Amino acid sequence: MTASLRDVGVWIFDLDNTLYPASCNLFAQVDRRIGDFIADHFGISYDEARVMQKRFFREHGTTLRGLMVEHDVDPVPFLDYVHDIDVTPVAPSPTLAGALDRLPGRKIIYTNGSVRHAENVTKRLGIDGRFEAIFGIVEAGYVPKPDPRPYETLVEHYGVDPTTACMVEDIARNLVPAHAMGMTTVWVRSEADWARPDKGGVGTGSHIDHTVDDLVTWLDEVAG
Ligand SMILES: [Mg+2]
Repeated sequence: MTASLRDVGVWIFDLDNTLYPASCNLFAQVDRRIGDFIADHFGISYDEARVMQKRFFREHGTTLRGLMVEHDVDPVPFLDYVHDIDVTPVAPSPTLAGALDRLPGRKIIYTNGSVRHAENVTKRLGIDGRFEAIFGIVEAGYVPKPDPRPYETLVEHYGVDPTTACMVEDIARNLVPAHAMGMTTVWVRSEADWARPDKGGVGTGSHIDHTVDDLVTWLDEVAG
C-alpha cells in the first residue's frame, strides 16, 4: 500500500483538522469568531447567529459562501476577523516536518480558509517552507470545497495530473470531486458528524482509498 503512495506526483493537503489534529480544537476558535462576526454584522444575538451559520455551512459548503451569496458580504474583513486566532494550541510537529521533507512529490495545501491562516498554522507546526503553494479560498474564487470547480482551477493552475495526485482531507465529502477526477484519496478519520463519509449525501465512502487515524504516524511511514 505505502509503496504505491511513494509514486504520488502531487500531494494535496487540506489544512484544518488534517495537518494538525482535531483534538487541539483550534477550529473551535474560528467557529466562535464566525458566530461573533455574524451576530455583529446583522445586529442579532449569538444564538441566532449560530443558527444562520449552521444553515450557511449546510447549504453553501462554508458560512462565508452563504454570506456572500445571500447577503453580499465583503469576504476580506470576514476572513481577517475569523482567522485572527491563537494558534498555540497546535503543537509543533518535528515528526510531520521530517516526513514532509522525506516524502517524494510536490506538495500543495488546499484550504477553504485563507492563505494567511495556513501560513500561521504551518509556521506554528514547523512545516512552513515544505509546500510549493497554498491554494486558499481567495485563490478558489471564493467557491469552497466540495464544489468541483475550484478543484479544476487548482489542477489547471498548477499543472497537476489528477491521476498521479493524492488528496488528504478530514471532511469526507470534500474527497468526492478528487476521486471523480482520478486522484487517490486519503480520509483523516473524524468523529465530527459533518465530516464522516456516511454524511453529506456521499454514500458509503467508496470514494475513499485510504482511511487514516493519525496523519503524522501514517505519513512518516509512507515517506519511508
Ligand atoms: Mg479540514
